[in-house]
Amino acid sequence: MKPTEGLALFSGQQDMENLGLGDFLLPPAQSPFPGLGRRLDPKKPYFACRWWQSGLSRDFLRSTWAWIENSQSGARMRARPVDSGPAESTGRVADLSPGLAAALRLKTDDVCTVTIDDSTSEFGSDFSHAATSAPTAFSGPKVYTTAEWGAVPAKVSFFPEKPAVGIVIHNTEYPNRPPFADTEAEKAAAFANARTIQLDHMNNRGWSDTGQHFTISQGGVITEGRHGTLAAAAAGHVARGAHAPGANDDWWGIEIAGNHVAQYLVTDQQWASLVALCKWLTRLAGHALQIEPHDHFVPTDCPGKIADHIDDLRAQVGG
Ligand SMILES: [Zn+2]
Repeated sequence: MKPTEGLALFSGQQDMENLGLGDFLLPPAQSPFPGLGRRLDPKKPYFACRWWQSGLSRDFLRSTWAWIENSQSGARMRARPVDSGPAESTGRVADLSPGLAAALRLKTDDVCTVTIDDSTSEFGSDFSHAATSAPTAFSGPKVYTTAEWGAVPAKVSFFPEKPAVGIVIHNTEYPNRPPFADTEAEKAAAFANARTIQLDHMNNRGWSDTGQHFTISQGGVITEGRHGTLAAAAAGHVARGAHAPGANDDWWGIEIAGNHVAQYLVTDQQWASLVALCKWLTRLAGHALQIEPHDHFVPTDCPGKIADHIDDLRAQVGG
């Protein structure tokens, strides 16, 4: 890249700063280049792609994030598009920043996948920037995000993802309670429960974040568990969880709030949310998902009496 070369997606420093990319630029003192291209901080995750074949508008690309995936290892990282290229003569369709390539252990001419993201950034990492949201592939039940219920950042900046295979049903075995009639009260209780579970999993079990992907409260409020769950779901993928050995890599983990070991106490609202969530995850995956209770994988008393209702769930989700 020549010292004067600019970036196809940005007109200047102010333009980049306005779009949340100020820290992608090296401080002027260290970077005497007039063109933006050579002023980029090579440690930051950015890339160029041959957009003219993608049909995506420059305006959209200027403010969006993408996932870059090492197609061999499955390692993924978020990155910002900054430029068009490389030239067709190179035989490549994307150029990654040195930091991004190193993080994903990619070398020149290795194969990677570029996926344009459609949700806001939710990781408390160095690379967290506001992003614009685009509509998700299919509308589904309302799922409150980790940001909405006030999660603390995970201990890692992302979890590896794999195409979804199935859904594991759990019960939290936390004390039972009836649903609140007031929707705000129910939401507040669901959020508080999500925070309690996250701290329990991170502090007492030593996990990087909440173990499961979703939790459904007694009043049917669905909360995102592990960070990155919804972003992965939009691509039909599972973000690696910690909920059932043997199923953590590619099975969703859904926790039904309450203790159902001795007695089946799932409420009508919980059941309706569970069916809607499973149907939505199936549509996102693009194929039927297996549904199994936790004790299908390991000896455990989870999910208790809910295990007797899995056939029913499969029928309702499949039907
Ligand atoms: Zn379980």
